[in-house]
Amino acid sequence: MEEEDFDIRERQVRDPEKDIEKALRPLAFDDFSGQDKIISNLRIFVEAARLRGEALDHTLLHGPPGLGKTTLSNIVANELGVGFKVTSGPVLDKPGDLAGILMSLEPHDVLFIDEIHRLHPIVEEYLYSAMEDYRIDILLDKGPGAKSVQLTLSPFTLIGATTRSGLLTSPLRARFGINCHLEYYDHEVLKAIVKRSASLLRVGIADDAALEIALRSRGTPRVANALLRRVRDFAMVKGNGFIGIEIARHALEALNIDRYGLDEIDNRILLTIIDKFKGGPVGLSTIATALGEDAGTVEEVYEPFLIKEGFIKRTPRGREVTELAYTHLHRQHPDMPGNLFDM
Ligand code: ADP
Repeated sequence: MEEEDFDIRERQVRDPEKDIEKALRPLAFDDFSGQDKIISNLRIFVEAARLRGEALDHTLLHGPPGLGKTTLSNIVANELGVGFKVTSGPVLDKPGDLAGILMSLEPHDVLFIDEIHRLHPIVEEYLYSAMEDYRIDILLDKGPGAKSVQLTLSPFTLIGATTRSGLLTSPLRARFGINCHLEYYDHEVLKAIVKRSASLLRVGIADDAALEIALRSRGTPRVANALLRRVRDFAMVKGNGFIGIEIARHALEALNIDRYGLDEIDNRILLTIIDKFKGGPVGLSTIATALGEDAGTVEEVYEPFLIKEGFIKRTPRGREVTELAYTHLHRQHPDMPGNLFDM
């Protein structure tokens, strides 16, 4: 009886969206599309570590959310043929939490710490000796008479992921031998990811429909997979299950998905610069204050995509929106009289 109760609870807390995301996760380098340079370098480092019979060097993966940092870490562990343990910066409250995880690692295992910029400073300090010498000093008791014991760890690889590499302390950054910056994906690569995911979900999709989803995914595989799942719902209910261009366009319109893939905060940033600062140039911290956002988050998480897609320019005097931003948001450009709206 008790077992059954437990089973029901388990089922209730399972999130089907998370399960699908997991099922779509590539498990080997060969299944991972894009980020070509990073992949070809990592293949070499992994192979070299295997040939030497050593743990792979500690690796830092940085870049905006949803670009594949967790996926890539899992792949590295699979390709090394070692165990994979996952935790995250804010979860590791006390040095004891970290020590527990480190002690449970088998030789050459990969420990993945997500949001590593949010590690507690005391925990971070313990991590230094663990990364450098594979040992950790644990304080027994408190107060002046407290003793410490030194624990020796199995050689392991720490893979740290962060969306905010600017917040990493320099001692921590210096302890990573491999440093990779993940970039936004271009449309063709995203289209391939959408097609791969569709085939794993056993749903037929036309080439142009896959591209349409890719174009609206903010250069981000996680967004592309989420849109595919929603479009699949429309195709099942409103059509015959196949995702053609018509049903894809209809679903994306119904879902109110921006035609350039911009999200709400992207649009707020552009509107703030246009409406409050006459299109710029305006300093980053002024924009951030007007939005009630953190300047670093705007700079590292939002702005790179807006710059890549040509909505914002960086100038020596600050950020300036481009004509594309005006037309996209149906605002009149001050130097361009007449109606230039791109409908
Ligand atoms: P991050 O850790 O950077 O936030 P994730 O690794 O969790 O991102 O990736 C989010 C989702 O996007 C994963 O479920 C995975 O299926 C998909 N994904 C990410 N990168 C790729 C890729 N290069 N190829 C195929 N799918 C990818």
